[in-house]
Amino acid sequence: MRTQMATEAGRSTAPSEDRAIVGPNLLAVLDGVTAKPETGCVHSVGWFADQLAAELLRFAHLDPAASLAEAIRQTGELHSDGCDLDHPDSPSAAVGLVQIKDDVLRYLVLGDATVVVGTKRELHVVSDTSTNRTAGADPGAVSHARTGAIPLPDVRRVAILSDGAARAVELFNLFDWPKALELMAENGPDDLIRKMRQVEKEDVKAVDWPRKKVSDDATIVYLDR
Ligand SMILES: [Zn+2]
Repeated sequence: MRTQMATEAGRSTAPSEDRAIVGPNLLAVLDGVTAKPETGCVHSVGWFADQLAAELLRFAHLDPAASLAEAIRQTGELHSDGCDLDHPDSPSAAVGLVQIKDDVLRYLVLGDATVVVGTKRELHVVSDTSTNRTAGADPGAVSHARTGAIPLPDVRRVAILSDGAARAVELFNLFDWPKALELMAENGPDDLIRKMRQVEKEDVKAVDWPRKKVSDDATIVYLDR
């Protein structure tokens, strides 16, 4: 198995709030939700995403839902003393993750991350763009996550994308998902981001493709078997 990662901030003036994990048996993309003016928290979104990523790695021995719930709980404990975790706009992140263990691939999506799994017979595209559910201060949010399991011998390709990268397919229609996986297999995931940035640059006023952010943080973890 070979894993590749590509990430690029949406703007040159601010650090990316996406994070990628490429660990033993765990692949994940976290997308920190842009902070509101009031969050009840003294920390940055980047800090929150960093802690959540570290805790996800620490609890990778649990199944995806249990590991994310525990990561949310532990991250909360890191700042529950000084920050108001009951604030409705407490920092949070969309999460897409894949665990590979015992010949099974298990996935979890919470929020607008996307997990794409190409098997010998079909394509699974898992996302949750219709809601604002994300991993914040409440471990109970994990009950809204989309989860599933696929026998590993069937799996050919896997991609996990933040919404800033998935828009290459979902918004700009540069390719469909099978073609996007082909492109990543041939040229790597950075080529997908490069092609998408070109389109964004040609529409800097967001006229042809109406969107809130002209360019968003874009991150892809791609696995080929
Ligand atoms: Zn805090």
